[in-house]
Amino acid sequence: MKKPIFQMLILACLAVGLSACSAESSSGAGKTYAGDGPISAVATTGMVADAVKAVGGERVRVEALMGPGVDPHLYKASEGDVARMSKADMIFYNGLHLEGKMTEVFEKLNRIKPTVALGEAVEKSRLFASQTYTGSPDPHIWFDVSIWMQVVRDAARALAEFDPAHAQTYQHNADVYLAELESLHREVGEACASVPEGKRVLITAHDAFHYFGKAYGFEVRGLQGISTATEAGTGDVQELAAFIYERKIPAIFVESSVPTRYIEALQAAVQSRGFDVKIGGSLFSDAMGAPGTPEGSYPGMVRHNVKTIVNALLGKDPA
Ligand SMILES: [Zn+2]
Repeated sequence: MKKPIFQMLILACLAVGLSACSAESSSGAGKTYAGDGPISAVATTGMVADAVKAVGGERVRVEALMGPGVDPHLYKASEGDVARMSKADMIFYNGLHLEGKMTEVFEKLNRIKPTVALGEAVEKSRLFASQTYTGSPDPHIWFDVSIWMQVVRDAARALAEFDPAHAQTYQHNADVYLAELESLHREVGEACASVPEGKRVLITAHDAFHYFGKAYGFEVRGLQGISTATEAGTGDVQELAAFIYERKIPAIFVESSVPTRYIEALQAAVQSRGFDVKIGGSLFSDAMGAPGTPEGSYPGMVRHNVKTIVNALLGKDPA
């Protein structure tokens, strides 16, 4: 039953949108806001919602589709999500194939309303190639705060384009938030530099941390690929276990949006070689923490991750 309803909704929202569209345009990109009250926006991940909220301030009501612990690589839009997106004025998503199972929905929505892939605005020279998807970059851009700042700027650009009457407000909000992120970027760099260079190795459940590694000087290994859509095989586990054993890496990390059994299997494989690797804590990789907690905001999520990583690799108590 699920699929036909979903398709009907897509078709219905398409039909409404296209008939509302002027004849010369079938793209939502150049539209401007005609309403009086706040703009309603739907965002996919918590991180994207956070950026739009920071820039939109009181002018934009933002709803995130994916809550704590939700894996965006595997996420499929429910009927409720499609209904919410068809009612919203604007859609924001990460893009770069992060929400790989929602691509078609975004393409259809983009014909009707501004549907903005914030990751597409990041300078190409700063993106890494993905091992998982040929021709598509690694989507985990929020791990380098300085790259995420480009996303925030693009959220301001997209909002100003849609609602030009409040362009100055968006620019002002963005400037305030960007100043906060700039100091966060410095803070993360300083914390990471406190770990001796040889110990700066980050091993996690899936390969999400390459941008983090490049920005803050860590060697990065993931048990699964860039997307969680492919599972790690026993060969991958043994290979990584041998690496941890040889380098005597003190800690490996679980992620809030990936089942812990993968990292537990890796820990067991290392222990069977006679080396006791610790699980250094849980990182917020592809989803933020619960709303209302410090980790439920982008800066809080970043601070939690850095504190957890640095403490575990220095052999201190968990953060
Ligand atoms: Zn991921």
